[in-house]
Amino acid sequence: MRTGINHLFIPGPTNVPESVRQAMNVPMQDHRAHDFGAPNVGMFRDLKSLFRTKDGHVLLFPGSGTGAWEAAITNTLNPGDRVLMARHGQFSVLWAQMAQRLGLNVDLIDLPWGAGAPISEFARLLGADRKGEIKAVFVTHNETATGVTSDIAAVRRVMDEAFHEALLFVDGVSSIGCLPFEMDAWGVDLAVTGSQKGLMLPPGLGILGVSPKALKASETATMRRAYFEFSDQVKNNETGYYPYTPPVQLLHGLRAALARIAEEGPENVIARHRRLAAGVRAAVKAWGLEVCAESPSLYSDTVTAIRTPDGVDARDVIRIGYDRYNASFGSGLGPLAGKVFRIGHIGDSNEGMCLTAIALAELCLAAAGATIQFGSGVAAAQAVYAQPAIQAAQIAAE
Ligand SMILES: *Cc1c(COP(=O)(O)O)cnc(C)c1O
Repeated sequence: MRTGINHLFIPGPTNVPESVRQAMNVPMQDHRAHDFGAPNVGMFRDLKSLFRTKDGHVLLFPGSGTGAWEAAITNTLNPGDRVLMARHGQFSVLWAQMAQRLGLNVDLIDLPWGAGAPISEFARLLGADRKGEIKAVFVTHNETATGVTSDIAAVRRVMDEAFHEALLFVDGVSSIGCLPFEMDAWGVDLAVTGSQKGLMLPPGLGILGVSPKALKASETATMRRAYFEFSDQVKNNETGYYPYTPPVQLLHGLRAALARIAEEGPENVIARHRRLAAGVRAAVKAWGLEVCAESPSLYSDTVTAIRTPDGVDARDVIRIGYDRYNASFGSGLGPLAGKVFRIGHIGDSNEGMCLTAIALAELCLAAAGATIQFGSGVAAAQAVYAQPAIQAAQIAAE
Protein backbone atom coordinates (compact mmCIF):
# COMPACT_ATOMS: atom_id res chain seq x y z
CA MET A 1 0.00 0.00 0.00
CA ARG A 2 1.47 3.30 -1.08
CA THR A 3 0.33 6.35 0.78
CA GLY A 4 0.74 10.03 0.00
CA ILE A 5 1.80 11.20 -3.41
CA ASN A 6 4.21 9.47 -5.75
CA HIS A 7 7.12 11.87 -6.01
CA LEU A 8 7.95 12.11 -9.67
CA PHE A 9 11.57 13.25 -9.87
CA ILE A 10 12.15 11.83 -13.34
CA PRO A 11 12.89 14.22 -16.21
CA GLY A 12 9.76 13.16 -18.10
CA PRO A 13 6.96 12.53 -18.05
CA THR A 14 6.97 15.51 -15.73
CA ASN A 15 4.40 16.67 -13.21
CA VAL A 16 1.22 17.96 -14.80
CA PRO A 17 -0.11 21.09 -13.05
CA GLU A 18 -3.61 20.74 -11.67
CA SER A 19 -4.94 23.54 -13.91
CA VAL A 20 -3.66 21.70 -16.97
CA ARG A 21 -5.21 18.43 -15.81
CA GLN A 22 -8.53 20.12 -15.23
CA ALA A 23 -8.41 21.78 -18.64
CA MET A 24 -8.19 18.33 -20.23
CA ASN A 25 -11.26 17.05 -18.42
CA VAL A 26 -13.74 17.90 -21.14
CA PRO A 27 -16.34 15.86 -23.00
CA MET A 28 -15.43 14.54 -26.43
CA GLN A 29 -15.70 17.09 -29.17
CA ASP A 30 -16.47 17.18 -32.84
CA HIS A 31 -13.11 17.91 -34.40
CA ARG A 32 -14.73 18.94 -37.69
CA ALA A 33 -17.18 21.40 -36.14
CA HIS A 34 -17.08 24.94 -37.49
CA ASP A 35 -15.98 26.33 -34.12
CA PHE A 36 -13.27 23.72 -33.37
CA GLY A 37 -10.45 25.40 -35.26
CA ALA A 38 -10.50 28.97 -33.99
CA PRO A 39 -8.92 28.39 -30.53
CA ASN A 40 -6.10 26.43 -32.15
CA VAL A 41 -5.06 29.28 -34.41
CA GLY A 42 -3.93 31.24 -31.36
CA MET A 43 -2.32 28.10 -29.95
CA PHE A 44 -0.11 27.72 -33.01
CA ARG A 45 0.84 31.38 -32.71
CA ASP A 46 1.78 30.85 -29.05
CA LEU A 47 3.81 27.74 -29.94
CA LYS A 48 5.76 29.73 -32.51
CA SER A 49 6.54 32.32 -29.90
CA LEU A 50 7.67 29.59 -27.49
CA PHE A 51 10.03 28.21 -30.15
CA ARG A 52 11.06 31.80 -30.96
CA THR A 53 10.27 31.58 -34.64
CA LYS A 54 8.53 34.12 -36.80
CA ASP A 55 8.28 32.49 -40.20
CA GLY A 56 8.59 28.84 -39.21
CA HIS A 57 5.73 26.46 -38.47
CA VAL A 58 5.17 24.38 -35.37
CA LEU A 59 3.47 21.07 -36.14
CA LEU A 60 1.78 18.69 -33.71
CA PHE A 61 1.91 14.98 -34.41
CA PRO A 62 0.16 12.39 -32.30
CA GLY A 63 3.11 10.40 -30.98
CA SER A 64 6.07 11.41 -28.86
CA GLY A 65 9.45 13.07 -29.29
CA THR A 66 10.66 9.99 -31.15
CA GLY A 67 7.85 10.42 -33.68
CA ALA A 68 8.87 14.04 -34.21
CA TRP A 69 12.47 12.87 -34.82
CA GLU A 70 11.13 10.61 -37.56
CA ALA A 71 8.87 13.28 -39.05
CA ALA A 72 11.81 15.68 -39.20
CA ILE A 73 14.01 13.17 -41.04
CA THR A 74 11.53 11.66 -43.46
CA ASN A 75 10.11 14.98 -44.63
CA THR A 76 13.36 16.72 -45.42
CA LEU A 77 16.01 14.17 -46.47
CA ASN A 78 16.60 11.60 -49.19
CA PRO A 79 17.59 7.94 -48.79
CA GLY A 80 21.36 7.67 -48.58
CA ASP A 81 21.92 11.33 -47.65
CA ARG A 82 25.04 11.94 -45.63
CA VAL A 83 24.38 13.48 -42.21
CA LEU A 84 26.61 14.43 -39.29
CA MET A 85 25.84 13.38 -35.72
CA ALA A 86 27.61 13.00 -32.39
CA ARG A 87 26.83 10.33 -29.81
CA HIS A 88 27.28 11.34 -26.20
CA GLY A 89 24.26 9.98 -24.39
CA GLN A 90 21.28 7.68 -24.79
CA PHE A 91 19.14 10.12 -26.76
CA SER A 92 21.80 11.03 -29.31
CA VAL A 93 22.55 7.30 -29.64
CA LEU A 94 18.91 6.51 -30.36
CA TRP A 95 18.50 9.35 -32.84
CA ALA A 96 21.58 8.16 -34.73
CA GLN A 97 20.21 4.62 -34.72
CA MET A 98 16.93 5.88 -36.19
CA ALA A 99 18.79 7.81 -38.90
CA GLN A 100 20.63 4.61 -39.85
CA ARG A 101 17.44 2.53 -39.80
CA LEU A 102 15.83 5.03 -42.14
CA GLY A 103 18.69 4.60 -44.60
CA LEU A 104 20.78 7.71 -44.03
CA ASN A 105 24.55 7.61 -44.33
CA VAL A 106 25.54 8.76 -40.85
CA ASP A 107 28.95 10.27 -40.05
CA LEU A 108 29.30 9.53 -36.34
CA ILE A 109 31.45 11.24 -33.78
CA ASP A 110 31.65 9.21 -30.58
CA LEU A 111 32.33 11.13 -27.40
CA PRO A 112 32.40 10.33 -23.71
CA TRP A 113 28.96 10.39 -22.08
CA GLY A 114 29.05 13.71 -20.25
CA ALA A 115 30.58 15.67 -23.15
CA GLY A 116 28.74 18.33 -25.13
CA ALA A 117 28.31 18.70 -28.88
CA PRO A 118 31.79 18.67 -30.50
CA ILE A 119 31.89 22.17 -31.93
CA SER A 120 35.45 22.18 -33.24
CA GLU A 121 35.09 18.69 -34.74
CA PHE A 122 31.89 19.83 -36.46
CA ALA A 123 33.81 22.88 -37.75
CA ARG A 124 36.59 20.68 -39.12
CA LEU A 125 34.27 18.20 -40.86
CA LEU A 126 32.00 20.87 -42.30
CA GLY A 127 34.98 22.89 -43.48
CA ALA A 128 36.40 19.80 -45.20
CA ASP A 129 33.10 19.07 -46.94
CA ARG A 130 33.80 21.28 -49.94
CA LYS A 131 31.20 19.60 -52.14
CA GLY A 132 28.41 20.05 -49.60
CA GLU A 133 27.77 16.32 -49.29
CA ILE A 134 26.62 16.64 -45.69
CA LYS A 135 22.92 17.35 -45.90
CA ALA A 136 22.15 17.78 -42.21
CA VAL A 137 23.76 18.25 -38.82
CA PHE A 138 21.93 16.72 -35.85
CA VAL A 139 22.45 18.06 -32.34
CA THR A 140 20.91 17.05 -29.03
CA HIS A 141 20.43 20.36 -27.25
CA ASN A 142 19.90 18.86 -23.82
CA GLU A 143 21.12 15.27 -23.35
CA THR A 144 18.61 14.09 -20.79
CA ALA A 145 20.64 10.97 -20.07
CA THR A 146 23.71 12.88 -18.90
CA GLY A 147 22.36 16.30 -17.90
CA VAL A 148 24.39 18.09 -20.57
CA THR A 149 23.30 21.18 -22.48
CA SER A 150 25.12 21.89 -25.72
CA ASP A 151 25.74 25.24 -27.35
CA ILE A 152 23.47 25.39 -30.40
CA ALA A 153 24.45 28.98 -31.24
CA ALA A 154 28.05 27.76 -31.54
CA VAL A 155 26.99 24.96 -33.89
CA ARG A 156 25.23 27.50 -36.08
CA ARG A 157 28.32 29.72 -35.98
CA VAL A 158 30.65 27.00 -37.27
CA MET A 159 28.13 26.04 -39.97
CA ASP A 160 28.00 29.66 -41.12
CA GLU A 161 31.77 30.05 -40.95
CA ALA A 162 32.08 27.05 -43.26
CA PHE A 163 29.37 28.57 -45.51
CA HIS A 164 27.65 25.23 -45.11
CA GLU A 165 24.12 24.74 -46.40
CA ALA A 166 23.22 21.66 -44.34
CA LEU A 167 19.95 21.62 -42.43
CA LEU A 168 20.32 21.97 -38.66
CA PHE A 169 18.27 19.44 -36.71
CA VAL A 170 18.01 20.05 -32.97
CA ASP A 171 16.53 17.73 -30.35
CA GLY A 172 15.02 20.14 -27.84
CA VAL A 173 12.82 17.58 -26.10
CA SER A 174 14.10 18.40 -22.62
CA SER A 175 14.99 22.04 -23.30
CA ILE A 176 12.25 23.82 -25.23
CA GLY A 177 10.03 25.76 -22.85
CA CYS A 178 12.59 25.55 -20.00
CA LEU A 179 16.01 26.59 -21.28
CA PRO A 180 16.82 29.44 -23.65
CA PHE A 181 15.90 28.22 -27.14
CA GLU A 182 16.11 30.47 -30.20
CA MET A 183 14.87 28.71 -33.31
CA ASP A 184 15.31 31.68 -35.67
CA ALA A 185 18.38 33.30 -34.11
CA TRP A 186 20.20 29.96 -34.05
CA GLY A 187 19.04 29.04 -37.54
CA VAL A 188 17.45 25.79 -36.39
CA ASP A 189 15.66 24.11 -39.28
CA LEU A 190 13.98 21.29 -37.38
CA ALA A 191 13.33 21.71 -33.65
CA VAL A 192 11.96 18.61 -31.93
CA THR A 193 10.09 18.33 -28.66
CA GLY A 194 7.31 16.33 -27.04
CA SER A 195 4.40 17.10 -24.76
CA GLN A 196 5.57 15.36 -21.59
CA LYS A 197 8.69 17.29 -20.60
CA GLY A 198 8.95 21.08 -20.43
CA LEU A 199 5.39 21.51 -21.59
CA MET A 200 4.02 19.78 -18.48
CA LEU A 201 1.53 17.60 -20.35
CA PRO A 202 0.89 13.88 -20.49
CA PRO A 203 2.81 12.05 -23.23
CA GLY A 204 1.08 11.86 -26.60
CA LEU A 205 2.32 14.68 -28.82
CA GLY A 206 5.46 14.99 -30.89
CA ILE A 207 6.00 18.70 -31.49
CA LEU A 208 8.15 19.95 -34.34
CA GLY A 209 9.35 23.39 -35.35
CA VAL A 210 9.96 23.59 -39.10
CA SER A 211 11.88 26.46 -40.70
CA PRO A 212 10.93 27.86 -44.12
CA LYS A 213 14.10 26.20 -45.49
CA ALA A 214 13.05 22.82 -44.06
CA LEU A 215 9.55 23.21 -45.44
CA LYS A 216 11.02 23.97 -48.84
CA ALA A 217 13.23 20.85 -48.58
CA SER A 218 10.10 18.78 -47.86
CA GLU A 219 8.72 19.66 -51.30
CA THR A 220 11.40 17.61 -53.01
CA ALA A 221 12.65 15.20 -50.32
CA THR A 222 12.12 11.63 -51.49
CA MET A 223 12.22 9.68 -48.26
CA ARG A 224 8.95 7.81 -47.76
CA ARG A 225 6.40 9.15 -45.33
CA ALA A 226 2.64 9.23 -45.22
CA TYR A 227 1.12 9.88 -41.80
CA PHE A 228 3.83 12.40 -40.92
CA GLU A 229 3.61 14.42 -44.18
CA PHE A 230 4.31 18.09 -43.43
CA SER A 231 2.12 19.57 -46.17
CA ASP A 232 -1.02 17.86 -44.84
CA GLN A 233 -0.45 19.48 -41.46
CA VAL A 234 0.47 22.92 -42.74
CA LYS A 235 -2.60 23.11 -44.98
CA ASN A 236 -5.04 22.10 -42.22
CA ASN A 237 -3.37 23.95 -39.34
CA GLU A 238 -3.90 27.30 -41.00
CA THR A 239 -7.51 27.27 -39.84
CA GLY A 240 -6.79 25.31 -36.65
CA TYR A 241 -7.73 21.89 -38.03
CA TYR A 242 -5.87 18.61 -38.52
CA PRO A 243 -5.57 16.14 -41.37
CA TYR A 244 -6.76 13.37 -39.04
CA THR A 245 -8.27 13.06 -35.57
CA PRO A 246 -6.13 15.08 -33.17
CA PRO A 247 -5.74 14.16 -29.49
CA VAL A 248 -8.37 16.70 -28.51
CA GLN A 249 -7.79 16.52 -24.75
CA LEU A 250 -4.10 17.20 -25.16
CA LEU A 251 -4.86 20.30 -27.19
CA HIS A 252 -6.92 21.65 -24.31
CA GLY A 253 -4.04 20.84 -21.98
CA LEU A 254 -1.51 22.40 -24.31
CA ARG A 255 -3.44 25.66 -24.45
CA ALA A 256 -3.60 25.72 -20.65
CA ALA A 257 0.12 24.95 -20.35
CA LEU A 258 1.02 27.71 -22.81
CA ALA A 259 -1.17 30.11 -20.84
CA ARG A 260 0.74 29.20 -17.66
CA ILE A 261 4.07 29.84 -19.35
CA ALA A 262 2.79 33.19 -20.65
CA GLU A 263 1.52 34.15 -17.20
CA GLU A 264 4.80 33.31 -15.46
CA GLY A 265 6.74 34.88 -18.32
CA PRO A 266 9.05 32.74 -20.47
CA GLU A 267 12.16 34.49 -19.07
CA ASN A 268 10.98 33.78 -15.54
CA VAL A 269 10.44 30.13 -16.43
CA ILE A 270 14.06 29.99 -17.61
CA ALA A 271 15.30 31.79 -14.49
CA ARG A 272 13.34 29.40 -12.26
CA HIS A 273 14.89 26.37 -13.92
CA ARG A 274 18.33 27.89 -13.44
CA ARG A 275 17.68 28.55 -9.76
CA LEU A 276 16.21 25.13 -9.00
CA ALA A 277 19.05 23.39 -10.82
CA ALA A 278 21.65 25.41 -8.91
CA GLY A 279 20.20 24.12 -5.64
CA VAL A 280 20.30 20.50 -6.77
CA ARG A 281 23.91 20.87 -7.94
CA ALA A 282 24.85 22.48 -4.63
CA ALA A 283 23.46 19.39 -2.89
CA VAL A 284 25.49 17.05 -5.09
CA LYS A 285 28.62 19.02 -4.25
CA ALA A 286 27.84 18.91 -0.53
CA TRP A 287 27.52 15.12 -0.73
CA GLY A 288 30.99 14.99 -2.28
CA LEU A 289 29.58 13.41 -5.44
CA GLU A 290 30.06 14.27 -9.09
CA VAL A 291 27.62 15.11 -11.81
CA CYS A 292 27.94 13.41 -15.17
CA ALA A 293 28.43 16.63 -17.17
CA GLU A 294 32.13 17.19 -17.85
CA SER A 295 32.27 20.90 -17.09
CA PRO A 296 30.13 23.67 -15.59
CA SER A 297 29.42 25.26 -18.98
CA LEU A 298 27.57 22.05 -19.90
CA TYR A 299 25.40 21.80 -16.78
CA SER A 300 21.76 21.27 -17.62
CA ASP A 301 19.15 23.31 -15.81
CA THR A 302 16.44 20.71 -16.44
CA VAL A 303 18.06 17.47 -15.25
CA THR A 304 21.04 16.52 -13.12
CA ALA A 305 22.71 13.14 -13.59
CA ILE A 306 24.55 12.16 -10.41
CA ARG A 307 27.32 9.57 -10.27
CA THR A 308 27.09 7.27 -7.28
CA PRO A 309 30.33 6.55 -5.38
CA ASP A 310 32.36 3.42 -6.17
CA GLY A 311 30.65 0.36 -4.77
CA VAL A 312 27.22 1.98 -4.64
CA ASP A 313 24.86 0.72 -7.33
CA ALA A 314 22.64 3.54 -8.57
CA ARG A 315 19.95 0.94 -9.32
CA ASP A 316 19.72 0.29 -5.59
CA VAL A 317 19.29 4.00 -4.92
CA ILE A 318 16.42 4.10 -7.40
CA ARG A 319 14.78 0.90 -6.18
CA ILE A 320 14.91 2.02 -2.55
CA GLY A 321 13.41 5.36 -3.54
CA TYR A 322 10.51 3.70 -5.28
CA ASP A 323 9.82 0.90 -2.81
CA ARG A 324 10.38 2.69 0.49
CA TYR A 325 9.66 6.30 -0.20
CA ASN A 326 7.21 6.30 -3.11
CA ALA A 327 9.68 8.40 -5.08
CA SER A 328 10.84 7.98 -8.66
CA PHE A 329 14.36 9.04 -9.61
CA GLY A 330 15.58 8.83 -13.19
CA SER A 331 17.71 5.80 -13.99
CA GLY A 332 21.13 5.58 -15.56
CA LEU A 333 20.52 4.81 -19.22
CA GLY A 334 22.63 2.50 -21.39
CA PRO A 335 26.22 2.29 -20.15
CA LEU A 336 25.36 4.58 -17.22
CA ALA A 337 23.04 1.93 -15.71
CA GLY A 338 24.06 1.38 -12.10
CA LYS A 339 26.44 4.33 -12.18
CA VAL A 340 24.07 7.26 -12.32
CA PHE A 341 20.70 8.35 -11.01
CA ARG A 342 18.96 11.47 -12.20
CA ILE A 343 16.90 14.21 -10.63
CA GLY A 344 14.60 16.04 -13.02
CA HIS A 345 13.89 19.68 -12.22
CA ILE A 346 11.95 20.33 -15.36
CA GLY A 347 8.52 21.73 -15.99
CA ASP A 348 6.16 22.42 -13.11
CA SER A 349 8.57 22.37 -10.16
CA ASN A 350 9.53 24.49 -7.17
CA GLU A 351 11.96 24.71 -4.26
CA GLY A 352 9.94 22.38 -2.03
CA MET A 353 9.86 19.67 -4.65
CA CYS A 354 13.61 19.91 -5.22
CA LEU A 355 14.31 19.86 -1.47
CA THR A 356 12.15 16.76 -1.12
CA ALA A 357 14.06 15.11 -3.94
CA ILE A 358 17.36 15.96 -2.27
CA ALA A 359 16.23 14.81 1.19
CA LEU A 360 14.93 11.50 -0.16
CA ALA A 361 18.05 11.02 -2.28
CA GLU A 362 20.10 11.30 0.92
CA LEU A 363 18.06 8.53 2.52
CA CYS A 364 18.31 6.32 -0.55
CA LEU A 365 22.04 6.91 -1.07
CA ALA A 366 22.74 6.08 2.56
CA ALA A 367 20.57 2.95 2.43
CA ALA A 368 22.42 1.86 -0.72
CA GLY A 369 25.75 2.12 1.11
CA ALA A 370 27.01 5.64 0.44
CA THR A 371 28.48 7.74 3.21
CA ILE A 372 26.14 10.70 3.41
CA GLN A 373 25.76 13.20 6.16
CA PHE A 374 22.01 13.60 6.49
CA GLY A 375 20.88 17.10 5.73
CA SER A 376 24.11 18.18 4.05
CA GLY A 377 22.60 18.37 0.57
CA VAL A 378 19.36 19.81 1.87
CA ALA A 379 21.23 22.59 3.70
CA ALA A 380 23.35 23.40 0.65
CA ALA A 381 20.26 23.69 -1.52
CA GLN A 382 18.46 25.73 1.12
CA ALA A 383 21.33 28.20 1.08
CA VAL A 384 20.74 28.63 -2.65
CA TYR A 385 16.97 28.86 -2.30
CA ALA A 386 17.22 31.33 0.58
CA GLN A 387 18.44 33.88 -1.95
CA PRO A 388 15.45 35.82 -3.24
CA ALA A 389 14.28 34.68 -6.66
CA ILE A 390 15.25 37.23 -9.25
CA GLN A 391 12.55 37.89 -11.77
CA ALA A 392 13.62 38.52 -15.35
CA ALA A 393 12.14 42.02 -15.25
CA GLN A 394 14.50 42.86 -12.38
CA ILE A 395 17.53 41.52 -14.26
CA ALA A 396 16.60 43.65 -17.25
CA ALA A 397 16.22 46.73 -15.03
CA GLU A 398 19.62 46.33 -13.36
C1 LIG B 1 12.51 12.15 -23.75
C2 LIG B 1 13.47 12.47 -24.83
C3 LIG B 1 13.33 11.95 -26.12
C4 LIG B 1 12.35 10.89 -26.49
O1 LIG B 1 11.11 11.32 -26.47
P1 LIG B 1 9.87 10.33 -26.36
O2 LIG B 1 8.84 11.37 -26.13
O3 LIG B 1 10.10 9.40 -25.24
O4 LIG B 1 9.73 9.67 -27.67
C5 LIG B 1 14.21 12.37 -27.10
N1 LIG B 1 15.20 13.21 -26.82
C6 LIG B 1 15.40 13.70 -25.59
C7 LIG B 1 16.53 14.62 -25.35
C8 LIG B 1 14.54 13.34 -24.55
O5 LIG B 1 14.73 13.83 -23.33
